[in-house]
Parts: sequence; C-alpha cells; structure tokens
Amino acid sequence: MPKNAYAKINISLDVVNKRDDGYHNLKMIMQTVSLYDIITVEKSDNISITCTNPNVPCDESNIVYKCAKKLLDIRDKSYGFKIHIEKNIPMAAGLAGGSSDGATVLKEINRIYDLGFTMDELKKIGATIGADIPYCLEGGTYLCEGIGDILTKIDDFKYDKILLVKPPIDVSTPWVYKNLKLNEITIHPDTDKVINCLKNNNVSELKNCSGNLLQTVTEKEYSEISHIKDKMYSFGASFSMMSGSGPSVFGLFDNDDELNNAYEYFKLLYPDTFKVKTVNRV
Ligand code: ATP
Repeated sequence: MPKNAYAKINISLDVVNKRDDGYHNLKMIMQTVSLYDIITVEKSDNISITCTNPNVPCDESNIVYKCAKKLLDIRDKSYGFKIHIEKNIPMAAGLAGGSSDGATVLKEINRIYDLGFTMDELKKIGATIGADIPYCLEGGTYLCEGIGDILTKIDDFKYDKILLVKPPIDVSTPWVYKNLKLNEITIHPDTDKVINCLKNNNVSELKNCSGNLLQTVTEKEYSEISHIKDKMYSFGASFSMMSGSGPSVFGLFDNDDELNNAYEYFKLLYPDTFKVKTVNRV
C-alpha cells in the first residue's frame, strides 16, 4: 500500500555550538506539513528503485536504498525490494524530502518483511543514515536537539494557512555551515518562547522570538530569499522564515484571502509554491 512521506519545516532553528567532530549542536522546532512524496515498497527478488523526478538518483546513493539495505543487513537477510517514489517534495530544499522518504522506507521494509524492529531501534538505525530521520519517523511538532536526533515531543501545532515557496537556488548545506560565523551572532532565537507561541497559537509573536541562524548565511549570498520573506509580509503573513538550510521560505497567514493572493503571486514566479497545513500524525 502506498505511504505518504511528509515534508517538514523548521519553525525555529538555533545553532548552539560546534562540536569537536565538526557537526553542530542544534535546537530546532520541527513541524510536519501536508506536502508529501508517495512511496510504494514491495517485496521482490531483485533491488529496484524508481522515481518520478529524473533528478533523484535511483542507485545506491538514494537514501531509501541505504535505509532498506541497512535493515536487511542487520537481520542478515538478502531479500530484494522494489521501491517507487512519487516525488512531490522539491529536492535539496530544506524540507527533509530525502530523510522523510528514508523514514517511510524503514517502516515499510520492517513491516513487509516482518523484521521486528521497534520504533526506538528504527530511530537509532535511522540516525546513522541521516540526522533528520528519527524526527521524520515520528512526525508532528517536536523540539529536536543534538544534531537533530534528540527529540522532545511538544504540544501539537495546528495551523492551516501556510505558504511554502522554493526558489530555484541550489544551496549546499555544508557550505552554509562552513560560512556560519557563530561568534559574530549575538541574537539567538528564544526557543522556549517559540514553544509557548505555538502552544497558544500566537503566530504573530513568532517574529519576536523565532529565527533561523542559517538564514544569516544564505540571505547574505542570495537576496532572493530576503525578497520572498519581505513579500510574504507585504501580503499579510504573520510570520515568515527560511526552512532548514534553505532555500525554501514559508509564511504563516491568518486569513484565506491573504494566503490566496500570496499563492497566486508566488506561483507565477516559482512553480514550487504550495499551500500546506500542519500534520500531526504521520
Ligand atoms: P534537509 O532538509 O534534511 O537538509 P533537503 O530537503 O535539503 O534535506 P533532500 O531533498 O533530502 O534535501 O536531498 C538532498 C540530496 O540527497 C539531493 O541532492 C539528492 O541527490 C540526494 N537524495 C538521495 N535520496 C533522495 C531522495 N529519496 N529524495 C531526494 N533526494 C535524495
């Protein structure tokens, strides 16, 4: 049976410090949204991966391959699998499309071959493949710390007027972290306040406490990201921010007219423009 693999947005993204291993400790508020890839996983004697987006690699570098193979290897099984990805989430967008596909495949391979892994085991295995995979396995509204793999459930954020715009800019995540000057940054998001805003559905207050530290890097290089954000506000958004390492920008609107006007405007400029809602059960 086909399964939905949902995109996520970062409602807040703080970088706490750089670790000795080169990774950064993060403090992020993550939220699943209603834009999704559709994944079908079937038993097979051979291994085959297909995807509707020709730019997605369908070889061993695909995250779904790594996830399926890892589970089968741990159980010492040489079974094949047939995976089809109907790709709707833009690639390399800061929306965790690949991680979400991977999380869905971990669950599906575990289920169809009855491998008996618990959710906690899947999360541990997933974390060795991608830092966002443990979160994608759970989905919903979470505080994610460490490299993104330490999860704390927070109250569900329910919001149905979100605009997502992905401009055609290629942002390399390693480049963003390399250019992040943590010691020059004096203002960090107040994550506790963000959690409170979401709990009380007080989205207009987010602009006073939320933020994305990675945006300080990408905005300097790609002014289009700032323009999209400014335009979101001029259409009436209560809050707008870049997701992850970009380049996707989202806007939270509080009425349908403003949301629809912004949608019409951005859709003409950027085909990857979507109206989405929060999703709290995946
Ligand atoms: P994140 O928000 O976690 O940083 P992202 O949305 O920026 O993720 P992805 O769409 O996950 O980025 O893709 C990053 C790269 O991973 C792509 O350039 C692609 O080559 C590779 N990739 C491997 N498997 C997949 C997949 N199933 N879907 C999309 N990209 C994949």
